Amino acid sequence: MELVEIKEGLARILVPKAERIYDAPVFYNPVMALNRDLSVLAVKAISPKRVLDALSATGIRGLRYSLETPAEEVWMNDINEGAFNLILKNVGLNFGVESVPEGGRAEVKLPNGKRLVVNLGDANKLMAEKFRYFDFIDLDPFGSPVEFLDSALRSVKRRGFLGVTATDTGVLCGAYRKACLRKYLAEPIRGELCHEAGLRILIGTVVRYAAKYDLGVDVLLAYYRDHYFRAFLGLKSGAKKADESVEMLGYLWQEKNGKFRYETGFLPEEQGAYGPMWLGSLKDEKFVEELVKLAKAEPDSIAHKKTLQFLSLLHEELDVPFHYDTHALARKNGLEVVKVSKAIETLRSLGFSATRTHFSPTSIKTNAPFEAVLKSMGNG
Ligand code: SAM
Repeated sequence: MELVEIKEGLARILVPKAERIYDAPVFYNPVMALNRDLSVLAVKAISPKRVLDALSATGIRGLRYSLETPAEEVWMNDINEGAFNLILKNVGLNFGVESVPEGGRAEVKLPNGKRLVVNLGDANKLMAEKFRYFDFIDLDPFGSPVEFLDSALRSVKRRGFLGVTATDTGVLCGAYRKACLRKYLAEPIRGELCHEAGLRILIGTVVRYAAKYDLGVDVLLAYYRDHYFRAFLGLKSGAKKADESVEMLGYLWQEKNGKFRYETGFLPEEQGAYGPMWLGSLKDEKFVEELVKLAKAEPDSIAHKKTLQFLSLLHEELDVPFHYDTHALARKNGLEVVKVSKAIETLRSLGFSATRTHFSPTSIKTNAPFEAVLKSMGNG
């Protein structure tokens, strides 16, 4: 495997040289640097002791966690032997230490007292071995994380944290409806709400998986970007906490003119429902404020040029379920398209809250009723 050295955040890593990222023998996607930047900030804010990067590929995430956060023990795991050997090389490159694997595992004690463990094997097997051991588990798979959720929810401490990526957007956004029914037991919606609904289906699935272990879920931050979903979740121990999270699941309905409604409930009260999905908040204000503060304090560990801008957008976004896409509304109601900034201004002048949303540059999040939103489009 021909390798090239690159830098991301405070880490140096060797990555395979390849024309296209999916052809490389070990996977590295530079676009995901934004995902990793936000993950580093999240791990800094959470401050976990023991971290698992369960699907590590080049080791970039785990390396960044050990270099850029206070985590004391970082595990990096991959099932691919080429990846395992590359992670060992990358550990050597960053820390100048030789790690000798024994039985598919290598342990390194760093001069600053931190511990690194590199493991070759199936993530589910490792997580089954390390029951209630980790404070933070990162699941960053190809496609859906569902096959790792049960093990992760048993391997993480009962008051621990999960970072979950899903890249199967075609499934969660309804292009492959049957796959969504199979993997997430949920009905996906197509059209302008598909990304937000897909993210909420993903979170709803984690909530359902967690509930059977009497674990509730706090959403610290969840977003959609660059064809993937990402959620940082905090677990809460206890049957009552699990019940409270399950009570935030429900359904979405949408009419032909773009008007939507949603309702919490275990079963849908009417036909034509999308879900079940999470209808609670997508962020914890204090957590996001902390990420913004940390990002500004240490700009060197921001690897992607869009990270700060994106984080500000998430910070400012109104946290209400779903949004209105100005283009879809115009098309569905025979209206002219108005500028998002103009519609937001009108809604605010009518006394409502309204902001842009990271889900789409042409959409608005607002607490205004549908009729007021149409009015803001220049029609009453
Ligand atoms: N987290 C990495 C990053 O930020 O660059 C990218 C990980 S890549 C999307 C997914 C990795 O999961 C691949 O390296 C693949 O070999 C590994 N993988 C797939 N199935 C696995 C399993 N059951 N157990 C452990 N690793 C697995």
